[in-house]
Order: sequence, then structure tokens, then C-alpha cells
Amino acid sequence: MARHDVIVIGGGHAGVEAATAAARSGARTLLLTQNLETIGQMSCNPAIGGIAKGTVVREVDALGGVMARATDRARLQFRMLNRSKGPAVWSPRAQCDRGLYRRAVRSLLEDQPLVEPVQGTAACLILRGARVAGVATVDGRRYEADAVILTAGTFLRGRIHLGTDIRVPAGRAGEAPAVEIAQSLESLGLRTDRFKTGTPPRVDGRTVATERLQRQDSDSVAYWFSHFARPDLLPQLPCWLTWSGPALREIIESHLAESALYGGAIAGRGPRYCPSIEDKIVKFPDAERHQVFLEPEGLDTSEMYVNGLSTSLPAEIQLKFLRTVPGLEEVRMTRPGYAIEYDYFPPTQLRATLEHREIAGLFMAGQVNGTTGYEEAAGQGVVAGLNAAASALGRDPVVFPRESSFIGVLVDDLVHRGVDEPYRLFTSRSEFRLSIRQDNALRRMLPIARSAGILSPAELGRAEDQLRREEALLAVSRETSLSAPVANAVLEAAGSPPIEGPATLACLARRPGVSLGTLLDAAGLPAEDGDVEWPEIELKYEGYLRRERVTARKLREMEAYHLPALDYPALASLSTEARQKLAAARPATLGQASRIPGVSPSDVQALVMESLRARPTSS
Ligand code: FAD
Repeated sequence: MARHDVIVIGGGHAGVEAATAAARSGARTLLLTQNLETIGQMSCNPAIGGIAKGTVVREVDALGGVMARATDRARLQFRMLNRSKGPAVWSPRAQCDRGLYRRAVRSLLEDQPLVEPVQGTAACLILRGARVAGVATVDGRRYEADAVILTAGTFLRGRIHLGTDIRVPAGRAGEAPAVEIAQSLESLGLRTDRFKTGTPPRVDGRTVATERLQRQDSDSVAYWFSHFARPDLLPQLPCWLTWSGPALREIIESHLAESALYGGAIAGRGPRYCPSIEDKIVKFPDAERHQVFLEPEGLDTSEMYVNGLSTSLPAEIQLKFLRTVPGLEEVRMTRPGYAIEYDYFPPTQLRATLEHREIAGLFMAGQVNGTTGYEEAAGQGVVAGLNAAASALGRDPVVFPRESSFIGVLVDDLVHRGVDEPYRLFTSRSEFRLSIRQDNALRRMLPIARSAGILSPAELGRAEDQLRREEALLAVSRETSLSAPVANAVLEAAGSPPIEGPATLACLARRPGVSLGTLLDAAGLPAEDGDVEWPEIELKYEGYLRRERVTARKLREMEAYHLPALDYPALASLSTEARQKLAAARPATLGQASRIPGVSPSDVQALVMESLRARPTSS
């Protein structure tokens, strides 16, 4: 068998990005996946982006990833969430054609000449001592490589539940679970645990009375997730808004014991932030209604995804409660919802490169690390791909600092805090959320992309041009003034008080409701919307951003303070909880130590003293 530098197990969202990043780094990469037809398959809803997740999609794109480009090719509806709030929480989200998305992902993957996709099921790792040397498949094939990335998603000993009687071994509906690899990794001493998640039923859109529902159309503004490509947009489709009411509540309450989630069939913990309808009914007994979104599955099908009604009740109960929802009285269910439980590996076993601490050359990304969501998987995929390639090619590791990306926040949270439920990103997870936004992802990620050499010269040129144009607009806004009469026409239209003398565009743009684009137009310097967003936010939030950058610098200094090897259980000056948590996590720096839950500020102070004591004094 041909030798590769890197093998990626799994062709989901983590696997595809891992393979792309490794190949772009120059590593000969084998992508081994159970079924080539399901590369890029969306297991749950056909949507990409959303709160914080949209920013990760932009970061992945700036690092040469496929998710943004595939979304732009397949999207049926686009919305910038939280547009009415501050830009720190603006979040692009797109509804996609499920089939087109999958095909776009596969074709973007195949654009990478160093990626070799192969169909097969990994059974175990080939080890040389404590180092990975390759992968063996269930049908006896052997592939050798210096690094392996496991991205097996919800497939590890996956089991689907529908009601309390139906339990089917599966990785997701209609696909076999991955049992051998799970057993073999456990036998190597990897710690495993169990999580669960669920999906709602799908319905035949021809049987939905959409004329009685609230229609939600795409935003009219032009927006592309990718910084590098501008494909023509597909015809856009609406989503439909309805709600579940008292009749649905009654049905769920009277059948709760038949739910896999509530009837005791599943032990694993599920995502608090994607609750099933059973969860919502039990946890919010006073809520009269719960929103339900009917989302299109594709351009060439009338099937709809029923967002908001994730369930593990028996199929006949699902149909019964669906028909209580306004607009769905005559509905036909095309697929029932279900719950799935699966193994994951508690991610505190990993380094910040996503390499396993004990097994050199084994990297892990995606749902196997206890996360949930396509975007979280994609972000980890890039980190694992870059670092597996770096390990195989003898280069320096690539670590993503927390203060400059959501990818950094995600990985840092996983490997230092660990997870006690499926982890998903929110803007509130970052201390630097005003600085790490969707509009400046390219600016933040380009230094990493440049030093890893993962962008083509054309992509790099395009990225640098974009940043230069934005900087030129910021400079021109600081240098150009408008006379009072010209400025006042803009200010009046924005409902802002007039000025008496000339003022710079920068000064005027700081006012709430006054757009830099309109000011530039008034000054006779029209600019593209995509170029104005960054300078406008930099001007409007200048004070806040400055404060956040000072905090980031201080934290960086603390972050950089390396901890010596300490015998944590013996450190009496630390609390018992801190001793236990530090011994388990073994943080490399003071910054990492300070973010471990259970390590208090006074523990951090004590840690500084213990470190100083433990270091050999310099003469
Ligand atoms: P996956 O997308 O699962 O991909 C895993 C890949 O690995 C697949 O290609 C598989 O074929 C391959 N593979 C597995 N084992 C092997 C092997 N031994 N050898 C070779 N290939 C292998 N996320 C949310 O954010 N919200 C939700 O509400 C939500 N609901 C979900 C409901 C269900 C029923 C499921 C199944 C998932 C749900 N998710 C949800 C999770 C979301 O689908 C995942 O987070 C995301 O797909 C993870 O990407 P991944 O690349 O880690 O894994």
C-alpha cells in the first residue's frame, strides 16, 4: 500500500477540513471514510452558521477550508442574525440544499491534488511503540502514515432510539455504526464516555398549508461566506414559521414514558441548547407555545425539516403531535425524528494541537471530542489537519490563541476545561467577543494561513488586497472631512443632530445610526459594502476595542508564563479541587491553568508562588 503522511478517518465536517488543511500544508493525505457518497453529509438540519458558528465558518474559510465555499454554492436562504444588535454578535446563517452541499464539499475536496479519498471502514490503529504508524480497515487493508486524525462523528458504537422499544445500532439513520475502532481505541487506554443527540421529523412540503403560516424570506443584502469565491446565488426559498401549542403539549405529556429520552432507554447526556420537544415541555411547563420553523431541504424536493420538534417518541406519536401544529393538520411525515447515543473521548486527553497526550501522532477532531455542530467540527478539523501535517512533516505545531479566534476558544475550552454535555459555541464563550467577529476573520487568520503556507498565491493576493482596501478606507475616513451642509444632509436622514463646522468621516461615523458607507458616498468616495464593514466597526467601537486589546495583551503575558513540572497533589497551598483539576489537566501555562473550572484566582496566585519556588534559581 502507498505510504501517506496523514490519514484522516471520516469524511464528515471535521474530516473534510482536516484533510484539506493537511493537504494544503503539503502532506500526502488519505481520507478513509465509510462511504464516499456521504462525504459532507449534514446529519441533522441543512443549515450552516448561526450565533458564533458563522464566525467559525469565516475563520475556517480564511484558512483555506471548504465549508464557506460549499455553503455559498448550496445556499437557499441567507440571514444575518442579530443585525439589530452590536456587530460582535452578528452571525451569518444559511439554509442549504442538502444534496448540493454534499456534492460541493466533495468536489472542493477533490480540488486538492494531495487528498486521496478512499472508501473503507477503519478497524484499528497500527502502532509502532507509543506512536501511530497507520490504520487497518475491517476488510484487512493496511495504510501507513506518520499521523492519523480520527473524525468518526456520532458513529462510535452509535445506537439510534425511536421510542423505548426500537434500538438500532447505527452511526446515523441508515448507516452502520463504527464498533471495531471504538473497541480498539478503548483497549489502548483511551477514556470514553457517552453522549446523545436527537433530530426532528421531516415532512412532505406539499401537505403543509404554507398560505396560513408566517413566511420568512432571505435577507436582501449580498453576502458570501467565503472570502475567495463569488459563485452565482441559487434561487432563494422561504422558511415558514409556526408553533406548537396546548394540544401538542397534551400528547407529549401523556406519552412521555414512551420517549427514549424520558423512558430511561438512554443514559448519555444531551445538548442543553438543542433540546428535544420532550425536554422543552418538561422544563418549561408554563410556556404556552414553542416556535417551529419549517425549513426547505432542497431545490428539487418538497421535503421540509421541522426545526424545533426534535424527538425520540415512537413514529405514530410524532405524526399525531405534528398534526396539532397550525399548518400541519394534514401533513405527511417523510421520516421520523430519532435520538442517537454514541461514544466520545473526553477532550482533556488532548493537547492544544488536538494530538492525544499519550499516543504520539493520533489526532482527534469533531463530535468524537464531545462537541456538537458542523461548524465546531470544521474548526477542529482545521486545527488537527494543520498539526497532523506539521507533525508528519517535522514542522512546528500550529496553536490558535484564544484571544484571536473562536477556533482558539473552542480548542482551549475543550482541552483545558473538558465537557460535561455536548459542547457548542456561543459568543459568550469568548472574553474577546468584540474583537473576534465574522467581518475580520480574514485579518485574524491570515498570519496563521501565511506561515503555514496553506493558501495559493492567488488566494493570498486576493486576501491581501481585501485587507489593504479596508485599511485604505479607514485611513481615508480619518483624513477626509465633510462640510457642515453636506454632512448635515446625511445626519438628518439618520436622525442625528446637525454639526456646525466641518468634521471628518471617522468622527461622524462614530455616531449611532450613521453609516460610513453613506458618508463615503457623500464625500464622493463610494466603496463596496464588503470593504466598509471592518473600518466602520473599528471606528464605531474604537474605545471598547482598545480596552479589549489591552486585556488581551495582559492575558497573553500571563498565558506565556510557563509552568514547571509540579507535583500538584502535594501542593498544600492550593485548594483540594484545584489540585485535582490541575493534576488531571496538566496545563502548560498559567493562562491555561487560570481557565480550568475550579481553579480560583487565589489558586492562581498560589501557583505563581509554587512555580517560583520550583524553578532553579539563576545565579
Ligand atoms: P460526522 O458528520 O458524524 O462524520 C463522521 C464521518 O466519519 C462520517 O463520514 C462517517 O461515515 C465516518 N466514519 C465513522 N466511523 C468511521 C470508520 N471507522 N472508518 C471510516 N469512516 C468512518 N448538531 C447540532 O449542532 N445540532 C443538532 O441539533 C444536531 N442534531 C443531530 C442529530 C443527529 C441524529 C445526528 C446524527 C447529529 C446531530 N448533530 C447536531 C451533530 C452534527 O451532525 C455533528 O456535530 C457533525 O456532523 C459532526 O461532524 P463530524 O465530522 O465530527 O462527524
